[in-house]
Amino acid sequence: MTTDTTTQVLITGSGPTGLTLACDLTLRGVGVRVLEQRSGPHRESRGKGLTPDGLEVLARLGVEERLAAVGSHAPVLRKYFDGAHVTDTPADGGGLLIGQWQVEQVLRERLAGLGVRVEYGARVSGLAQDPAGVTARLADGREMRAAYAAGCDGGRSTIRELLGIPFEGYTEEKPTMVVGDVRAPGLSRAYWHQWFSSEGGGILLCPMPGTDTFQLQAAPETDADGEPLPPTPEGFQRLFDRYAGIPGIRLEEAGWLSSWRVNVRRAARMREGRVLLAGDAAHVHPIAGGLGMNTGIQDAAALARTLAAALAGPAPAEVLDGYEAERLPVAERLLADTAARHGRVLAAVREPGRGTEAGMR
Ligand SMILES: Cc1cc2nc3c(=O)[nH]c(=O)nc-3n(C[C@H](O)[C@H](O)[C@H](O)COP(=O)(O)OP(=O)(O)OC[C@H]3O[C@@H](n4cnc5c(N)ncnc54)[C@H](O)[C@@H]3O)c2cc1C
Repeated sequence: MTTDTTTQVLITGSGPTGLTLACDLTLRGVGVRVLEQRSGPHRESRGKGLTPDGLEVLARLGVEERLAAVGSHAPVLRKYFDGAHVTDTPADGGGLLIGQWQVEQVLRERLAGLGVRVEYGARVSGLAQDPAGVTARLADGREMRAAYAAGCDGGRSTIRELLGIPFEGYTEEKPTMVVGDVRAPGLSRAYWHQWFSSEGGGILLCPMPGTDTFQLQAAPETDADGEPLPPTPEGFQRLFDRYAGIPGIRLEEAGWLSSWRVNVRRAARMREGRVLLAGDAAHVHPIAGGLGMNTGIQDAAALARTLAAALAGPAPAEVLDGYEAERLPVAERLLADTAARHGRVLAAVREPGRGTEAGMR
């Protein structure tokens, strides 16, 4: 067993939630380790917006200038209907457009500057607790010990499963969207292009700052039985040709393609003894409004404050209870709010000139 007496909090997951927690705790003088199952950092745009609330948390970690240097204000939303340009809508909200991988990179660099490096190839597969601490078992057989552990390991959280915490809510049976990163030489990068069709469906291409790529979101292609097909580079091109109909633009794959389905779920509890959940591990919901990564970042800030107080004070159990009391109602509201925003976007895009702005409030 690897016994590291300086580890006070063992963090599973190096997404935006785990990295925010790690930076915040380290700045508070708490010893952390960050375990990540991936073999290295990814470059997927995924959560592409920081809201003012998310930015406020990250500014306290000292990365505001770095984020501002990488990201940009959201571009004008350009809406097309049945192939014709209808309206341009200014983006609002005062946030920052930035790829999730870039947010993670900025946080990882901040963490490294504080002396902590993410440990890659470290998949947590087992967990045991006793009155003095937590022991995590890794898939490669190593064991690690800490006073507390945080599950920041995403929607399919192993930690949540190991704790036996139900993930309550619903998952739609079929994927409703294909997503990915593409290059689109010749397409203007001044706009977030949103093409919709009177027959339903559409395709969106958002230019990602600091790259030559766009984040693509589209209704999936379907087979002869109406079943959604998985994303492929050729499928992205067919969808682009069908909805955008701009001859001569050839999409080039840029490393990420995935399917997305509606999930509206939250953990029944955010704590089991000395182990606490944050971010997507505790709540998943529609992406309308762009609140997932931002809520995880805010969970992390609340969890850092809680764990630092629990480590320093005489009554840790009472302090730890405060985290769930503060964040579970936020998760509950988030699920209802984003499901409503998702419904508004689906209704709006049937009208010429409307698009994702319908989900921003
Ligand atoms: C197309 C799309 C657009 C989106 N747009 C937005 C947006 O505009 N704004 C927004 O706020 N959110 C957005 N989101 C949501 C956002 O991506 C998620 O909410 C965010 O990734 C959650 O961060 P997290 O750190 O909690 O989890 P994750 O990012 O999922 O990170 C979890 C990490 O844990 C690791 N891990 C998992 N299991 C283990 C294990 N057993 N051991 C070790 N490591 C493990 C994973 O490899 C991963 O690196 C979007 C998502 C998608 C797909």
